Amino acid sequence: MKNLWCWRCKMEVPMLDEEEYKIASKLYREGFQTGKCSMTRKKRFKDLLDYYKDLTGFEENNPNAIMHHRIDLYGSACENCSKPYRTPKASFCAACGNKRATTIINYTETLQEAAPKWWQKFLVLNRAE
Ligand SMILES: [Zn+2]
Ligand SMILES: [Zn+2]
Repeated sequence: MKNLWCWRCKMEVPMLDEEEYKIASKLYREGFQTGKCSMTRKKRFKDLLDYYKDLTGFEENNPNAIMHHRIDLYGSACENCSKPYRTPKASFCAACGNKRATTIINYTETLQEAAPKWWQKFLVLNRAE
């Protein structure tokens, strides 16, 4: 569990890691299978809501909100503003525009590696265009 900015709720919420999420999704499914239509959502998904509260200390009434509070869904936190990158594949931060460090390709280094001779870098440059 980790407190992270949720892009859908527009606030910081406790997000579940994959282990915690596995249990949550099981409780969610059970709520669907064993619950009755006449039950309120809160009653039907009581186990899930209780589990989330035990884990996070956060009283959530909406089971669907818990299901999208999954760390893996939003990717890692931005190095600059610490909000999650919104998707695991995002190349820059949607909140502050910070470029994601892991996806920045160092072109100079790539060229040096690809072109051991000084003139070969022109070949590489041509190919890249
Ligand atoms: Zn949310
Ligand atoms: Zn950021």
